[in-house]
Amino acid sequence: MLEIIDVSKSFGNIEALNKISFSVDKGEIVALLGPSGCGKSTLLSITGGLTAPDTGNIRWDGISLNSIPAHLRNFGLMFQDNALFPHRNVFGNVAFGLQQLRMEPEEIKKQVRSILSMVGMRELAERDVLSLSGGEQQRVALARTIAPKPRLLMLDEPLGSLDRNLREQLLNELRQILTDLEQTVIYVTHDQEEAFTIADRVAIMNAGQLIQIDCPQDIYTRPASTFVARFLGLTNILETSKESVDTNNGVMIAENILIPMSQQPPELMERPRILIRPRGAQISEQGTLSGIVTKISFRGALIDLKLKISDGLQLSFEVPTPSILPKVGAKINLKLPADAAIWIAED
Ligand code: ATP
Repeated sequence: MLEIIDVSKSFGNIEALNKISFSVDKGEIVALLGPSGCGKSTLLSITGGLTAPDTGNIRWDGISLNSIPAHLRNFGLMFQDNALFPHRNVFGNVAFGLQQLRMEPEEIKKQVRSILSMVGMRELAERDVLSLSGGEQQRVALARTIAPKPRLLMLDEPLGSLDRNLREQLLNELRQILTDLEQTVIYVTHDQEEAFTIADRVAIMNAGQLIQIDCPQDIYTRPASTFVARFLGLTNILETSKESVDTNNGVMIAENILIPMSQQPPELMERPRILIRPRGAQISEQGTLSGIVTKISFRGALIDLKLKISDGLQLSFEVPTPSILPKVGAKINLKLPADAAIWIAED
């Protein structure tokens, strides 16, 4: 397996990576997710051997790769703007890496056909690559990268140039292909949905640091810090004080409004905050959280609501669409599930 151990890298006074450590199991897909400039591409480049780390180590099966040059690592790298070879057709592009490995022509034919079938491009093997659509070009680029069977596949925003519909469709196919191949993958993206769809585990980075690495569901239900929560679009984050914590029942977020909490604030957290999850609430007369609707967006089976709970306190919720939509200005009650709120650490 791949181990990234205490990797740091600075460019002048910019600290691009600060002591990053994690490992990727064989056959596992790990997505690196974070805002622009957080160090994702630098980490990929160091893993691939294209950039030297200042300190730290990259290992495969326990053996350090630091002195192994990029072309001997047997890692495949695909970028968003991976240019195909314009003078080769689809078959020729995918065959390229296998020809470099000096495989027998018959074996190359067999392997290229099998990979083109996998990415749904077998019928187009003879096509000029310049005549392909954007989505088709990405499929060929992917096929070209996986054809030599790299032991680690690194994909840097591979679907970034495609429109949303095509991206969603390719993303699901891509997960299936990579899982079928039992391919070990690091997948770089700044798009949360993309990371959650493709990956077994997601590594969230910010400003050169690894903030959290977990499976998508755990990241969503237990974000490690306010940065992670905000990055995932979870904005109901409230500061608490000793006075607001009712040791038996929960946290007072406004006069007479108590949010149930099943646990006390963790002692290690210096300034614990609570995160109220936007999902799972329902409009109900018996609901204990009341507020004035300040914004409503209809999204089919769900509506997005912004509620003014008290002066200076607005919360957002995503609730099942009721038969009669509330109007802006109306007072409504929400029923929250018992686990609606969790403690969350400050960054
Ligand atoms: P994006 O999503 O925009 O591609 P990223 O997360 O991949 O961003 P990196 O490209 O790894 O981020 O860059 C991390 C930081 O290091 C940035 O501040 C960037 O400006 C800086 N950086 C990266 N490469 C170099 C370089 N060769 N010289 C100087 N600074 C660099």
